[in-house]
Amino acid sequence: MPATAVASSKIDLFGLTRDELFALVAAWGFSAASAARLWRYLHREAATSVDGMDELPPRLQTQLASHARLELPEVAGENSSSDGLTRKYLLRLAGGHEIETVRMRYRDRVTACLSTQAGCALGCVFCATGQRGFDRNLTAGEIVAQALHIQRSLFGVTGSGPPERLRNIVLMGMGEPLLNYDAVMQAIDILRDPAGLAIANKRITLSTVGVVPGIVRLADEARPCSLAVSLHAATQEQRAALVPAAKTWPLDELIEACRYYTQKLDRRIFFEWTLIDGQNDSPEEARCLAQLVRGMPAHINLIPLNRTAGFDGQPTLSAATTRFQAILREHGLPVTFRQRRGLDIAAGCGQLAGAVANRALAITP
Ligand code: SAH
Ligand code: SF4
Repeated sequence: MPATAVASSKIDLFGLTRDELFALVAAWGFSAASAARLWRYLHREAATSVDGMDELPPRLQTQLASHARLELPEVAGENSSSDGLTRKYLLRLAGGHEIETVRMRYRDRVTACLSTQAGCALGCVFCATGQRGFDRNLTAGEIVAQALHIQRSLFGVTGSGPPERLRNIVLMGMGEPLLNYDAVMQAIDILRDPAGLAIANKRITLSTVGVVPGIVRLADEARPCSLAVSLHAATQEQRAALVPAAKTWPLDELIEACRYYTQKLDRRIFFEWTLIDGQNDSPEEARCLAQLVRGMPAHINLIPLNRTAGFDGQPTLSAATTRFQAILREHGLPVTFRQRRGLDIAAGCGQLAGAVANRALAITP
């Protein structure tokens, strides 16, 4: 059985795939029907305690109470944006580290932005998580538990109507998913399970700073998720100034890995570009980006810079944003300008700092 429990000898049920959970329940001497019921309690009903699992044999309930961990992380803080559409949760993990998880409601869908590490070691200059530093990797169970927490928060939101379902997951919260590869892949498999949250493959997006070996591995293993690569600059020198990880995985190797990914899987790739006034938003830069990704099935996501305490850059002005977008379109590139969400609660891209004490660091415009 995978060792997914942290600071506890109990088995973390949220970190088990359905097959692994069935094997555990069988090893304890219970039927597959009981295992299926337990899976439903966990992944459809987002149950957080053995109390209320009335349809399980009492002996299985006792076994679970003594050998399994099935509490979702403690909510150490939460707040909603003024428009009510974005809600940010500060979750306390076993062992005391804190992470942030964000729920974003759109007209036709709900998206959860999940963290994959407590903090991040990669230090992108504009990112509050990078400014905070690295604590530890999350387990698969801790990643899945964030999604279940969001699904649970949706129960009752619609009053007497059917509960809203979480349909989209972005691995764009705290941390670098490809530096926690195994746990993230295990979590993706659990989140996709058709008898569980059943998130469609294309609706799970993994965002990476550009960890080249991880991108190649995703391609070789044909992992079922969408891939977004945080590019932010189209020359090695400029990129390395914003994204120190570019010194480890240089731009030419990164682009080669991206081409390999798109060809091997016959999939498009998303490139993220945080627009920073006067730093990476010139027409020349737009043309350079178009040249860089030429011939690749690419989609560009422009992100307005969200201000953070440790970086004095400013978001690009709207005229320059429009011009940048227009040049990419002239080169035939599909472009989306990401909506700004949850800035008044520091829940925007790159604003997740985690610990309550650090929260004041995040500045809103
Ligand atoms: N480590 C991964 C995923 C988490 S960051 C990665 O870097 O891709 C998610 C996205 O937010 C990345 O594209 C990142 O570059 C962007 N981001 C970080 N700080 C930001 C900020 N202050 N404003 C806007 N986007 C930011
Ligand atoms: Fe880490 Fe991503 Fe933030 Fe860079 S942008 S510091 S890789 S979380």
